[in-house]
Amino acid sequence: MATWHEYLIKEGRPPAWPYPVRFGQEREIDTDVLVIGGGIAGCWAAISAARQGVRVALLEKGDVSRSGSGGPGCDHWCNAPANPLSRVDPDEWAVHMADQPYCNGIGIQIQCRENYDTLLEMEQMGGKIRDSEDEYVGAEGRDDETKLMISPRYGVKHSYLADFETVEPDYNPPEKRNNVVIRVWGSTFKPLLKKECLRLGVQVYDRVMGTSLLNENGVQGARVVGATGLNCRTGEFLIFRAKAVILATAGAGSLWLMSMEHGGYSNMHSRNISGDGTVMAWRAGAALTMMERSGGIGIATGLKHKWYTGAGDASYENVPIVDAKGRRLPYPIQGWEDAGAMVASPETEAKIRQGVLRGEYELPFFGDFPAMSDVERRATWLMMLGEESTTKIIVKTLNEGGFDLGRDQLMSYKLIEGQSPPQWREAGYGGGVLVDWNLKTTIEGLYAAGSQMFSPEDHSFCAATGRYAGRKAAVYAKEIGGDLKISREQIEQEKNRILAPTKRTSGAEWKELHNGLTRAMQYFVSEFKTERLLKMGLEEIERIEAETVPKLFALDPHKLMRSIEDLSMIEYAKIIIQAMRERKASSIPLDFHRIDYPELDPPEWDKYLTVKLENGQIKFGELPQRFWGNMKEQYEAHNRDYTGVYTPNK
Ligand SMILES: Cc1cc2nc3c(=O)[nH]c(=O)nc-3n(C[C@H](O)[C@H](O)[C@H](O)COP(=O)(O)OP(=O)(O)OC[C@H]3O[C@@H](n4cnc5c(N)ncnc54)[C@H](O)[C@@H]3O)c2cc1C
Repeated sequence: MATWHEYLIKEGRPPAWPYPVRFGQEREIDTDVLVIGGGIAGCWAAISAARQGVRVALLEKGDVSRSGSGGPGCDHWCNAPANPLSRVDPDEWAVHMADQPYCNGIGIQIQCRENYDTLLEMEQMGGKIRDSEDEYVGAEGRDDETKLMISPRYGVKHSYLADFETVEPDYNPPEKRNNVVIRVWGSTFKPLLKKECLRLGVQVYDRVMGTSLLNENGVQGARVVGATGLNCRTGEFLIFRAKAVILATAGAGSLWLMSMEHGGYSNMHSRNISGDGTVMAWRAGAALTMMERSGGIGIATGLKHKWYTGAGDASYENVPIVDAKGRRLPYPIQGWEDAGAMVASPETEAKIRQGVLRGEYELPFFGDFPAMSDVERRATWLMMLGEESTTKIIVKTLNEGGFDLGRDQLMSYKLIEGQSPPQWREAGYGGGVLVDWNLKTTIEGLYAAGSQMFSPEDHSFCAATGRYAGRKAAVYAKEIGGDLKISREQIEQEKNRILAPTKRTSGAEWKELHNGLTRAMQYFVSEFKTERLLKMGLEEIERIEAETVPKLFALDPHKLMRSIEDLSMIEYAKIIIQAMRERKASSIPLDFHRIDYPELDPPEWDKYLTVKLENGQIKFGELPQRFWGNMKEQYEAHNRDYTGVYTPNK
């Protein structure tokens, strides 16, 4: 394949835009349930709604077959306590997992009860969840009867059971394992989800970006009756009428960091995630929560190698780490031996660092594949690393370069790479749409699932909550009348907003705008938080909005999409700053430190802060910790008709 440079040399010019451009041309679509975002949660929502017999449309900015954070694959199906090898009770495990402030107990309960059912459905669609070809017989955690492969993650360390805590930390014997995380062949999942959507008659709109929600009669806070979309290839403007809408566009975008040269200038997640859904919900009048939370960017930014580390995190869970002289790091890092922590604890990290500084260990470190048994290293190299394209590329490149698992060690970037600066942050640690036990937002007709919700968890959380939201939205759509009072005025306003950059041929491009935003966030909304800095941040972003947004220009539909994403990110950033200013206390669990309000987690601030727009004005509210009530009782009260593999008290 020719490189970009070779193409330019050969053709003498960049390629022309390959699709017909129809900026502003309208198309109207009627459906019962509209799902916005065709990632993990969105696909599952569309499938489960379609199985209820309603008409479903699915909008996806990319191509459903590989879009989103789950598009590259998945190797861990976490928190599946209803699986047959589990040693914990799903409801008790859910309580245990939700035993932390500011989490999403509703989603965790749904995950714990339903994600094994979800996985079995994935298998029915053709997804590979078992070692059916007996490739990994003898691997630790593999069950010969079910052929499921249990991961060490969440082994015993996090157990709520008292007798588990007596286990020695240096080995986690099989009979003491929780067995709640399953290793899966998740690169097979996403294309199969799309196939199932199409099989069920879901109208899939690939390359269509949802841009706004339509409220009944155009009134903010009123029932949601549809949405608008932009075709990112043709510029066509789509108007969807729907009895129920499910938002599944995931969380925030890259608000603090933009690097064109490295790793797609995004954080760990898909570049297409730019906070659109949260901002759509906000403009429509739905309440958000946890918006003040942000954290340093940990892994896989493209600027850091941590995902390619050789050992010590995520997919490399059972690979021992040795120093440059072959000395095994004696501290549990990850895997069966440290009872399943996903990354080393801060104490372990500190011990390793001190050991290096004292000369006890010599850098760099290596993942010691040769020290592992053949089946263990194959399970890691071929299955775990092979099931996510971010690591599959490493396997492929190294294999082609002659890497020999039985002979070669893989260099680890632990310590030598350093930490991200605190100004490289991401908001994906908790902020999102507030939901109830039906995964309904605070507005009628609007639902949310996956990492669109506040305090999201992982892949199987998103799959299970998507499947749940689809079911609930379909029931609502069947009950509600078909009289959808859409406001033409609201549509016109949105159309003008979306198409404004196409009316200009010069000015500021989306990259400039994005970069300006991230700079303002780095300077004023990062490690040091004071009222003055936050106010300066807000003023700076509002200045950018007033001066640069009116100059924004887009010459093709793709650049228009990127421009609209910038507008979402600007709005998202402003909500974050407003929420940060409102929380007048510091908090350890929120990783939120205000210099002017240093008191840590004072009782009067031990609560969720909610925020929404009412008649265009910001309204703050609050909710107590564990506002969802008794998880088991609430779940059962809301799901009397649900039948799954797990039956309580069986
Ligand atoms: C490389 C990698 C490996 C991972 N491995 C694991 C793992 O092994 N186990 C695990 O539990 N988790 C894993 N995760 C995390 C997991 O993939 C995510 O938690 C999960 O995909 C989130 O699901 P979601 O549906 O909320 O978001 P996504 O799957 O990201 O889907 C969001 C979708 O919305 C679309 N979208 C965004 N804006 C719009 C818009 N305006 N209009 C239309 N569409 C829009 C996006 O294109 C995207 O397709 C991994 C993540 C990555 C990046």
